Amino acid sequence: MTLPEKFIENMQTRLGEALPDFQKALDTVPPVSIRFNPAKSTQKTVLEIEETIPWSENGRYLKSRPVFTLDPAFHAGAYYVQEASSMFLEHVFKQVVHRKGPIKVLDLCAAPGGKTTLLASLLGKDDFLVANEVVKNRLGILKENLSKWGFNNLIISNQDPETFSDLEGFFDVVLVDAPCSGEGMFRKDLNARNEWSEAHVQMCSARQRRILSAAAMLVAPNGVLIYSTCTFNEHENHDNVKWLNRTLDFETLKIETPDEWNIEEKENGFQFFPHRNKGEGFFIATMKNLSREARFVKGKPDFNRLKREQRALLEAWIKPEVFSELEFYYKNDGNIIAMRTALLGQYGSVLRALSKRSSGFEIGIFKGKDFVPSHAFALSDMVSGSIKRLELEEKEALKFLKKENFDFEEGENGWLLVTYGNLGLGWIKKIGDRMNNYLPTEWRIRMEVE
Ligand code: SAM
Repeated sequence: MTLPEKFIENMQTRLGEALPDFQKALDTVPPVSIRFNPAKSTQKTVLEIEETIPWSENGRYLKSRPVFTLDPAFHAGAYYVQEASSMFLEHVFKQVVHRKGPIKVLDLCAAPGGKTTLLASLLGKDDFLVANEVVKNRLGILKENLSKWGFNNLIISNQDPETFSDLEGFFDVVLVDAPCSGEGMFRKDLNARNEWSEAHVQMCSARQRRILSAAAMLVAPNGVLIYSTCTFNEHENHDNVKWLNRTLDFETLKIETPDEWNIEEKENGFQFFPHRNKGEGFFIATMKNLSREARFVKGKPDFNRLKREQRALLEAWIKPEVFSELEFYYKNDGNIIAMRTALLGQYGSVLRALSKRSSGFEIGIFKGKDFVPSHAFALSDMVSGSIKRLELEEKEALKFLKKENFDFEEGENGWLLVTYGNLGLGWIKKIGDRMNNYLPTEWRIRMEVE
């Protein structure tokens, strides 16, 4: 599929003599890359690593593209498949976020969750993350990816950025990974070439300014706004950063980058090109809030606390060092949510300010005296070592992930945490000679497995 003429003209002005190299690079096979989950290391994986991605500690280029769906480690959240340039967010984050204590982070355009999982890996146990996605039908994949990643100090919301105004100045870091004209995806996604037009670029640029204006309000005094796109277009990138700095009183932050990475650095941000960097087109800029004040609502979660008897029953399920740092509440539908005690204020503010959002980390529900653990709980690192586990080999793991039954040695009745490479995959319950597979139906592998 040919490139739009006007696009080539723009790139000619931009790249000059390098244009043929750029065009040639767009016809090559895109590199395949993944990022390991530092919270979930495992020996069992089918990945053939080629080399480390210089700007991301856990990022790796692969020698070839496996069928990720058929790797149980992928379903356990051992890694995320992510385009390499976008992992530069990590390098930027490490340089501009200067911690004096726990931080609050917002990913305003989050689905499917690539950058959210990267942010989560950069956060500690008392940091707090909100992942927002305005498009409802993209929420399912966001939830799935974040559950697999296992970071639980998290609220997922489904709101327009303009409806966050009760959280003015609340977040230390706000990421706007904006919807854009997608020029940087012209190699990976040929359809993106079809959708491109100057009018679309103008529409994207105007939408980005709306999102940026809303995002800017949410940044704490001296906090950081990170803006990224997967386009080369100056109207969407540099022009928007300049506009933001000028009109909303932000200042672009300096970032040091080794010359050998060969990333284009301009006054207001970094640009990746496929003929210079091993990855797709990507732009990123970081700005500091120079003036705005914090005026967010405060509050505590107003759910009912878990009854004492049920809390006692729950104790057996959760690692003791984690259990002692958690509060438990009932949601209206009876599901139990767990929140770190140290973060109740953060949860309170966000739960009050946003109406379309999750309530926190759901760990399960009581049915009479029986606790039915949630799938997200299986994927977290909270499950107590005293809960029985069933380590599966690849063939059985894939059966489990297809939501089919499989043979295993007879044992006592009850719940078993199914694992692969010692990472939680989900729950089964053995009742007599029957086995119930608790994998959520919508998550099951639909592909044929040999
Ligand atoms: N950050 C994601 C990742 O790394 O996986 C990719 C985000 S994608 C580039 C941009 C997201 O912005 C899309 O999920 C899209 O649905 C969302 N979006 C579209 N219109 C929006 C708007 N007006 N405000 C906020 N987000 C919007």
